[in-house]
Amino acid sequence: MEKLAIKGGYPVRGGKLYYGRQWIDDDDVQAVVDVLKSDFITCGPKVDEMEHTLEAYTGAKYAVAVSNGTAALHCACLAAGVKEGDEVITTPLTFAASANCAVYCGATPVFADIDPETYNIDPDSIRAKITDKTKAVVAVDFTGQSVKNKEIREICDEFGLIFIEDAAHSIGTKYNGKQVGSLADMTCFSFHPVKTVTGGEGGAVLTNDENYYTALKLVRTHGITHDDSLMEGAPHEGPWYYEMVRLGYNYRLTDFQAALIVSQMSKLDSFVQRRKEIVAQYNKAFEKLPEIIVQKEIPESDTCRHLYIIQLDLDKLSCTRREFFDAMSAENVQCQIHYVPVYWFPFYQHRGYEKGLCPNAEKVYSGIMSIPLYPKMTDQDVRDVIHAVKKVVANYRK
Ligand SMILES: *Cc1c(COP(=O)(O)O)cnc(C)c1O
Repeated sequence: MEKLAIKGGYPVRGGKLYYGRQWIDDDDVQAVVDVLKSDFITCGPKVDEMEHTLEAYTGAKYAVAVSNGTAALHCACLAAGVKEGDEVITTPLTFAASANCAVYCGATPVFADIDPETYNIDPDSIRAKITDKTKAVVAVDFTGQSVKNKEIREICDEFGLIFIEDAAHSIGTKYNGKQVGSLADMTCFSFHPVKTVTGGEGGAVLTNDENYYTALKLVRTHGITHDDSLMEGAPHEGPWYYEMVRLGYNYRLTDFQAALIVSQMSKLDSFVQRRKEIVAQYNKAFEKLPEIIVQKEIPESDTCRHLYIIQLDLDKLSCTRREFFDAMSAENVQCQIHYVPVYWFPFYQHRGYEKGLCPNAEKVYSGIMSIPLYPKMTDQDVRDVIHAVKKVVANYRK
């Protein structure tokens, strides 16, 4: 057996691999530079182009570009009318922003449990958490796999809830042949550098509903409008006149970030392809290892995976998750854990959420680890990761 690097052996590779990273080429850089030399550097023609690009790609009627994915979720909750006293159902196995967006609006996040095999929010658990205060569901396409859109749609229709899809992980994924972005009442994207398409920072909300679209545009920029039909004080006093008709924010995206996103969108199909190839290689290698549980996919989801998660079957290993993680690090494969259940954080603990609330999510959390997955990985990088996992497993096999 190969000696683990953490015990003084040779690491499987020299340079460190990280769990995710962007892929920016010279043409992406040029697209940004072109905007910086132009007349408009914020919320100008490139933001319009980015919105049209997202509409064309997803099939959604409207896209509203915002400064990041968290702002997208906040805007979606505001457009949905989420307010003090409301409840918003979401998953605990996500980035904190999926729940925080409800708190921003004075509402209370309610955590539904996950399916222990797909790790996505379980529609039956959503149903069980509905009260007469429930206003919306924020369903996260965790790791890029689509949530059960049909089931969640049916629940939302039955109870009059607004369905917001947190698609920060899932741009490029299809559900029953339709692109994510065109499915829920509102869909939120993030363009953070670890996500599939990046603008450095950036986000967008997509919708087919004109009323949401109007509200989203207002809250993005201070609730200010130049549109006569939205003003109360018309006839107005002159060409300078605009009105602030509701409370909004400055969630604008710059044109140079939009240019990067437009340039990256032209590569999305190749990113999707490469991510799928790597996932297929990982699945093939790990499905044979009894100590590793591979994430299950629903057939409706044609997934562009943002994260590749291995779940350790700790009953079959003589190490802890922490020891496995450290051993992978020493092999120069830097993993990450996605995510600590949101309600475990002190902010939520202080608000009375108790540990044990979502047993499936907590159980899955205790064994999972995200291994490197990004399109720029070479075949050798992929082999190195597989080698490292097998090596660590072999050393800790019971
Ligand atoms: C990244 C992420 C967000 C937030 O996006 P930002 O662009 O970083 O603000 C929201 N939800 C999920 C699930 C994410 O992974």
